[in-house]
Amino acid sequence: MEPRAFYVAGRPTHGDGELTVHHPYDGRAVGRTTLARPDQVEAAVAAAAAVATEAAALPAHARAAALDHVSRRLAERADEVAHLITAENGKPLKWARAEAARAVSTFRWAAEEARRFSGELQRLDTDPAATGRIALVRRVPRGPVLGISPFNFPLNLVAHKVAPAIAVGAPIVLKPAPATPLSALLLGELLAETDLPAGLFSVLPLPNDRAADLVTDPRLPVVSFTGSGPVGAAIRRSVPDKHVTLELGGNAAAVICADWASDEDLTFAAHRIATFANYQAGQSCIAVQRVYVHEWLYDGFLPRLVAAVQELRTGDPADERTDVGPLVSEDAARRVEEWVDEAVRAGGTIQVGGRREGATYPPTVLSGVPADAKVVAEEVFGPVLVVAPVTDDEAAFAAVNDSAYGLQAGVFTHDLQTAFRAARVLDVGGVIVGDVPSYRADQMPYGGVKGSGVGREGLRSAMDDYTEPRVMVLTGL
Ligand code: NAD
Repeated sequence: MEPRAFYVAGRPTHGDGELTVHHPYDGRAVGRTTLARPDQVEAAVAAAAAVATEAAALPAHARAAALDHVSRRLAERADEVAHLITAENGKPLKWARAEAARAVSTFRWAAEEARRFSGELQRLDTDPAATGRIALVRRVPRGPVLGISPFNFPLNLVAHKVAPAIAVGAPIVLKPAPATPLSALLLGELLAETDLPAGLFSVLPLPNDRAADLVTDPRLPVVSFTGSGPVGAAIRRSVPDKHVTLELGGNAAAVICADWASDEDLTFAAHRIATFANYQAGQSCIAVQRVYVHEWLYDGFLPRLVAAVQELRTGDPADERTDVGPLVSEDAARRVEEWVDEAVRAGGTIQVGGRREGATYPPTVLSGVPADAKVVAEEVFGPVLVVAPVTDDEAAFAAVNDSAYGLQAGVFTHDLQTAFRAARVLDVGGVIVGDVPSYRADQMPYGGVKGSGVGREGLRSAMDDYTEPRVMVLTGL
């Protein structure tokens, strides 16, 4: 198996040492790459800094053409991309196909955003002394971006950083997760096919300790990090003067409100929650982890939920029919097992679920778990769901907020007042009404409050984030 190239200033290259990528399901080697040497890291950062002015001046048509090219090529290679994602991450092929399709659309949207990213004209003659004056507010890149991405969406979470950087003309140095670098390297290959100036992008496989040096490099003034809370907090502490966006963990909740009461309602919610507690084996920052159900609906909802979970097919992620694959590693599955055991010792009941097999943990529903158990209070990042009855909607909203995290919440209600009340009182980045919290679209701001992060992604939000306003005042008009 030939090692895959990584990209320094747009050029394919190889480094030192070896990074072998293993399939989480059966442990077999599925790909290799090498690690960037210090001189290659230096070359990537120096090139990003050197090309920044040229990149900022790239015309919109050139930025959009490069983004459209990547979108088109990802579409042409979608099947290969999906298999690569499954091989390195272990997610079932059907979810990997969804991830590949999403990346196609992210780059296409980014091309459209690049075409319309124009700034603003403001009248200043609201003040008599400023009669005849207008302000032209354009956004200019803050400088080269450092993107650091996690393992759970090895293509999408890279796309969410790379596409907006190209859209605004900001150079980007990307450091993918060590467990899942292959999709990012394939993206590097497609970027290298474009006419973008060399230096505008680099993709560098690095171990964690060497990534920290990139974070503190003053030539990369913007840091866009997606990953775990402790690493995000350490990054923020280490560079208080940089522009840092943190997309961190979550423990998303769904609420079944008092009016979501028909048989059809409860069956729909049960299926949506079963699916989105367990997609990516629960390794999504917006996977459903907690469900609060109005107490008079609880006995009707729980059996439906258990039945919906039992319908999920767990197994080999390469099988098109598989719904739930392995976690990223056996260690990760063992941690989930320990947390479930702890919840049971604390009085919880396993409604459905079973025993861990290697890196695979079966979809599990728990009830009667105290609020301070890890499966309720922390981010489980596994296929585990905790269900609890609540006396009314307000008690449910309070329970949702009783968390160190605040990414998104799902509120099952038909009632507009309840929906608006939820959107007002829930301390999260987004509320999804009538569905699970596990929803993200490129055109909407995405991110969290409290321990879930700082700042927002979503193409337009990231483009704003990577740029700052520059004002030109025109007089005598
Ligand atoms: P992680 O924090 O272990 O690693 C994330 C990235 O940071 C990796 O590329 C890793 O190599 C790098 N890294 C680790 N230590 C570093 C350091 N000291 N300096 C610089 N970089 C360093 O996270 P993970 O296990 O890969 O991903 C899972 C986490 O990501 C979960 O907490 C999940 O909720 C979170 N996540 C959040 C979002 C979101 O949008 N909010 C999306 C997906 C995942």
